[in-house]
Amino acid sequence: MLLIKNVRLLDKAGAFDILIDDDGRYKEISPAIKAAENCKTIDGGGMLAAPTFINTHMHFDKVYTAISGRQKSTETLEDSISIMHNFKRNYTIEDVKARAVRAIKECVMYGCTKIRTNVDIDNMAGLVGLQGVLAAKEECKDIVDLQVAAFPQEGIYCNKGTEKLMWEAMEMGADIVGGMPAAEWIDDDARRHVDLVFEISKKYNNAMIDMHMDQSKNMFDRSLEYTAYKTKETGMEDRVACGHCTSITYQNQSHAIKVMKMLLEAKVHICCNTQVLAIMGIDAEPRTRGITRVREMVSMGLNVITAQDTICDGFHLYGTGDPLDYGLILAYSAQYNTPETARIAWDMLTDNSAKAFDPDMPYGISPGNVADLNIIDAPNVQEALRTRASRPFIIKSGKLIASFERKGNLIV
Ligand SMILES: [Zn+2]
Repeated sequence: MLLIKNVRLLDKAGAFDILIDDDGRYKEISPAIKAAENCKTIDGGGMLAAPTFINTHMHFDKVYTAISGRQKSTETLEDSISIMHNFKRNYTIEDVKARAVRAIKECVMYGCTKIRTNVDIDNMAGLVGLQGVLAAKEECKDIVDLQVAAFPQEGIYCNKGTEKLMWEAMEMGADIVGGMPAAEWIDDDARRHVDLVFEISKKYNNAMIDMHMDQSKNMFDRSLEYTAYKTKETGMEDRVACGHCTSITYQNQSHAIKVMKMLLEAKVHICCNTQVLAIMGIDAEPRTRGITRVREMVSMGLNVITAQDTICDGFHLYGTGDPLDYGLILAYSAQYNTPETARIAWDMLTDNSAKAFDPDMPYGISPGNVADLNIIDAPNVQEALRTRASRPFIIKSGKLIASFERKGNLIV
C-alpha cells in the first residue's frame, strides 16, 4: 500500500490524503487517512495531485533525427517530408528502437505515462520503423502505455506499395489506423484514402483511427468533413481523432461552422498540436500561425486536445515531451490568458486527451481507478503551466517511477 499525505486536488477545497492498494488502484481519497502498518508514505507537502498526462500524438520513429547535424530541420511541410526520405530509407530497427526508448523515457520523466505514437508506413521505411517502435514499446511496457498508429505519411495511393504495408502493419501489431489524406495527389484519392482507413479499422475490430488531417491553408480541402461523415456512417463516434486540421481556419465561416457541427455530432477528437507552427511555411505578414479553430471548437463543445507531435526531427527542431511546455504554447496560441481558460488548456493535456486515448478507459483520481498520477509543485494549474513546475513524484499503477525537478541557483 502507498499513502500520499497532504495534497491538493483539482476542484476540491482543502488538503487530502490518497491511499493506493497493492494492486496499484486508488482505495481511498479523504482528508485524513491513518497509515496502516507496512504502508509506504509520501509527504505531498500541500502540492497538486493530478492524473497522469496523456499525449495522443507523437512520432517516436523520427525523434532526435535533427540532433547534431544528423539532418537539418526546415520551414515548410513539403521540405520536411522530403528531408525525412533519406533518413527513412536508412532506418534500422536498432536505431529506431534506441531513439524511441530515449524519447519515451523523457516523456515519462515529465509525468506522461500514456502515449499514442504514429509510425511511418511507406515504401521507404517499409515496416522497419514499426518494428523498432514495437521493440521500444516492449522494453518500456512497465513505465508507459503506448498505442502505435500505422501512419501513411507519404499517402497510400501516391506511394506504391503502401496499401499492402498498411494491412501488414496492423497484422504486425499496430493498434491504431493512421491516415494522411492530404498527401494524395488528387481529391478522389484523398477520399479513397479515408475509405481505406475505415475499412482497415473495421477489419481490426473497429480499431481506433487517428488521421493527420491537413497542415495547410487549402480552402478546398474536404477530407475533414468527409471523415466526420464516415465516422457517423460507420458508428465510430468517439473512436476517431484528427490532428492539425488547419485548413478549416481558412475556410469561409458558414462552411467551417457546418463542418464543426458535423465533427461535434460524430464526436471526432481534434488534436491541434499548436507548437508545430513552422511547418505551415514562412509567410509574408500577417504570418500564418498554423492552428485550427481552437476557441470556436471548444465553445461549440468539441473535444479539443493538444500533444507534442514531434521532438527534434525534420519537421520541428525543438520539443521536450513535457506536456507543460506544449500546453503553455497552446495557451499562448489560443490566447487563453485567464485562470478559467488556463484550465481549458490543462484539460486538453489530461481529461480531454484521456477521452481520445481510450473513450472506455476510467481516468482520474477516484476509488477503483488505476493510480497513474503526478504530484506537481504548484498551487494550481495556472502556476503549473507558467513555471512548468517540478514533479517530485510520478506514479504509475501505484509505483513511484520517476521525478522531475526544475531548479536553478542564484549565485550572488
Ligand atoms: Zn504528426
